[in-house]
This record gives sequence, C-alpha cells and structure tokens, in this order.
Amino acid sequence: MTLAVFACDPAQSRGRRFAQAPAPTRSEYQRDRDRIVHCTAFRRLVYKTQVFLNHEGDLFRTRLTHSLEVAQLGRSIARSLGLNEDLVEAIALAHDLGHTPFGHAGQDALNECMAAFDGFEHNLQSLRVVDRLEERYPQFDGLNLTFETREGILKHCSPAHAQALELDEPGGVGRRFLDRTQPSLEAQLCNLADEIAYNAHDIDDGVRSGLITLEQLQEVALFDDFRRQTLAEYPHLQDKEQGRRLLYETIRRMLSAQVYDVISATRQALEAAAPASVEAVRQLAPLVQFGQEMRAKSQVLKKFLLHQLYRHPRVMHTTGQAGQVVRELFAAYLDRPQEMRDGFLARFDAARGVPDEVSAAARVVADYLAGMTDRFAAHEHERLTGCQLLS
Ligand code: MG
Repeated sequence: MTLAVFACDPAQSRGRRFAQAPAPTRSEYQRDRDRIVHCTAFRRLVYKTQVFLNHEGDLFRTRLTHSLEVAQLGRSIARSLGLNEDLVEAIALAHDLGHTPFGHAGQDALNECMAAFDGFEHNLQSLRVVDRLEERYPQFDGLNLTFETREGILKHCSPAHAQALELDEPGGVGRRFLDRTQPSLEAQLCNLADEIAYNAHDIDDGVRSGLITLEQLQEVALFDDFRRQTLAEYPHLQDKEQGRRLLYETIRRMLSAQVYDVISATRQALEAAAPASVEAVRQLAPLVQFGQEMRAKSQVLKKFLLHQLYRHPRVMHTTGQAGQVVRELFAAYLDRPQEMRDGFLARFDAARGVPDEVSAAARVVADYLAGMTDRFAAHEHERLTGCQLLS
C-alpha cells in the first residue's frame, strides 16, 4: 500500500532519542508497535478500567480492549486515507499507558495529591512510561520510541509542562504546544478514533450494566436513527429478548457511519489544504475531522453519556471511593516508602538529596500509584489501611 505525501514515512522519521541501527525486516513504526505490545505497562491495561471498575463485570471494556478498538478504527481509517497504519497502531496501543487505576477518578485524585508538585496528567504520564519508566533495555530507560509515536502519545500538554519538556529535549515533543502547531495526521486520527471508540463502547457497557436503557437512548439522534433503521429492516428485533442484537446492530451501524464520515470529511479537508508533506500538515489547522453534522450529533451523544452514565449516582459512588483509595495510598507510601515494590523504594531513596527532593519523592510515589491496576490498588489499600472500600 502506498503512503500519501502527507503521511508519516518511517524512512523520514525524526528518529529515536538514542540512535539505534535499523531492524532488518521491520519499519521503525512497526518496531515501536512491537515494543509497546511487549512492555509491562501494556499488559497492565487489561486490569485498568475506563468507566466501570475491573471487578464489576468480565464483559465491560478495560483499557486494553479499548486500546485495541482504537487501533482497529484508526487503522481502518488510515488505510483509506493513505496514512501510515503502523504508526496509527503504535500510537493507539500506547495512548492510555499512563492512565491511573480507576479511570478518571484515579487521575483526578492523583492530580490533587500532586497539586504542589506540578500535578499529574495521564497524557504526560503515558510519555513518561515510554520515555523513562519501563526498564527493559540495557542502554536506556523507557522504550526509546520514534519522535512520531511519542508526538502522538502526548495528546495534550499545558504550557508549563511543555516548557519543562522543551528544556529536557529542545525542539522535541513539547515544542508544538509552545508553537501551537498540530501533530501528524496519524496522531490526529488516533484522537478522533479514541473518541469514536469510547462513545460507542460506553453505550454498550452502559446498557449492559443497566445504568442506561435503550428507551433513554432514543433522545440521542446518532443512536436512534440507526435503531429505527435496524428495526425497519429487521422488525423481529422489536422483541425484548432480541434487545442485545438490536443494540449491537445499532452500534455497528453508528460506528460505520462515523468512520465513513471521518474519511469523507478528512479527504475533503486534505484536498482543500493540499499539504505536500508532514511538515506542512503540522503548520495547518487540524485536518482529521468529522463533517459538521456528525460533529454536532457526536456532541449530543457525549453530553448524554456525561449526564446519564459518567455522572450516574452508582458510578459516582464507586468513583468517589476510588478517589479515596488513591488519596490514602498516596499518603501511606509517602509515609512508608518501604511498602513500595519493584525498585520504587530505591527510586524514592535516590530522590533524597536532589534539588527539590520533596517533589521528586512525591513523583516516585505518583509513578508507582499510576502504574497500578485497579485490583492491585484495591488490595494494597486494604493491606495498608485495613479498610475495605472497593470489593
Ligand atoms: Mg483512550
């Protein structure tokens, strides 16, 4: 398959921070993807959640299945647009590596704990995982990924954090947040594929959990249009017993429509802007996009999920407890760093005596906590506090 002129070409990569000889058979982005799949943080995604906690049910999405869905949607769109599928896959599989246990509740709680020490942000943490925290190579910390994969992983970044990154790596991945330029199309695509994936699977998980119903979803045009269309074609799905097939067929149609919409709207934007290179793409406004109508419909769905699912009292109750688990664990490890495993005590001790040692020590605890799976965090909390909040 030939790459478009505006796609990232591994032969033109800006390279890795530590120079390495090329692999005999794999491209640089394939190699990135392979490194990600084999890393420890990737395996942990299977026990980390998005909305529901890992122990709430075996069929809910975890961050691992979510990342696979993002990679699938991303690759499928990338192929149609002539973008680099390997790069899209690498970014998609790595995009959630820095997430704390317990979804956004965990991230918010950890950010609170780190308020006096530059905060905690999951995008920045994903970059930290692949740049520093993974310990797999004799020559360097992290996975030593290409610039393009790292650029895609760092989706958002505050100006203060971008300044710090720029100091550490001049002209590196922090730069675009200071210059206000865009990342590659492959990175832009992963953002949108992420959104398409969670909007669809949160409907599925929400209905399965009983927190939202097919009736409630009738107020969401993006969903309801396809539900009606499905019923018109397969009237036997009216039967309550067939509810699951109706749900899946509706979601399938909704996903396809969004994918085709992104392909056609992005193609139009690319034709109009006619970028002749990846560098040209970086200087333009974002080009990977929904058409206007789909964008509006997708906003309605997002709003629905926010109010009916993410802020559902049952979800809020568990996430409230999850936040408490993270806050109490943070305090416990700061107080008793010897309770941390896997070399984190050594990292904590190494933080003593460096300039700003309190902040450096807190960062070690944040790294340790962020790496935990839901169940490990819950067990650790029970072990260290004697109190069972999540079970
Ligand atoms: Mg995601």
